[in-house]
Amino acid sequence: MDPFDTFRPQAWTRDAACRDLGAGGDAFFSDHRGEQYADARKICARCPLAVQRQCLQFAIDNNEEGFWAGTTKPERAALAKGESPLTPTQRRNAQMLDLFEKGATVAQLAVQFGVTHAVASTGIRRARSVRAAVAA
Ligand code: SF4
Repeated sequence: MDPFDTFRPQAWTRDAACRDLGAGGDAFFSDHRGEQYADARKICARCPLAVQRQCLQFAIDNNEEGFWAGTTKPERAALAKGESPLTPTQRRNAQMLDLFEKGATVAQLAVQFGVTHAVASTGIRRARSVRAAVAA
């Protein structure tokens, strides 16, 4: 099933960050030499959280292949079984923390993820808390 179907598109695709990607959409269906869908991850991270949630549910409900809502198929299988505690917001925060630790500034992350400086800053702090809780 194609959520972007020209005749009956899913309503949630209207604001999707991956809409109208053209050939760039290939990033969602091929794992480029083990880079774990790096390009697709960046695009999903900019997608509105409300869209990510519906995208994720759609992919799980339809047993979709490829990369959807920031997840690989095995990751979605784990989510569907309740084995992953991360919500889309927590996943976004974890991605921001990862990039922050690689040298990105909060201002750069705010632009990249389409959020305010305060949201980016809070997200990084919360991701640290989640990581500490998991490690404890
Ligand atoms: S979460 Fe990712 S795959 Fe889903 S609609 Fe948004 S950009 Fe596309």
